[in-house]
Amino acid sequence: MITVKSECYCALCRNKRTVYAKRSLSLVNYLLAAAFTVALTWLLWHQADARGLLIYIGAIAIAEIFILLRRRTGLACPHCGFDPVLYSRNQATARDLVIKHLETRQEDPNVWLARRPPIRGASRRKKNKDSTREIIV
Ligand SMILES: [Zn+2]
Repeated sequence: MITVKSECYCALCRNKRTVYAKRSLSLVNYLLAAAFTVALTWLLWHQADARGLLIYIGAIAIAEIFILLRRRTGLACPHCGFDPVLYSRNQATARDLVIKHLETRQEDPNVWLARRPPIRGASRRKKNKDSTREIIV
């Protein structure tokens, strides 16, 4: 079974979230595009036609675009608005979007009544100076 989604942690707020892991078309997508092409070709020309290949290529291109857009739009953290791809390209814009997202969330009453706060710092483990535990490599 191909996993479409995977869980990860946000680099900024450290909350757990789900992102789309699928990066390109799978065999099922190609088969669905072929079935769509056959159905549309028979619907339009009532026989097999070479122009169906163009429909097949277009269907594959559209499916690929949707998969890439879904993955790209799902990368931004829903909790803090941090977008790692945008951050790698333009840090100032990414920072501004995070600030805007956090301001928007502060004004949202649904966030106020949330069971868990939208942003919570992960607990940092303090080093115990008296610990006898050693790092084994
Ligand atoms: Zn986040």
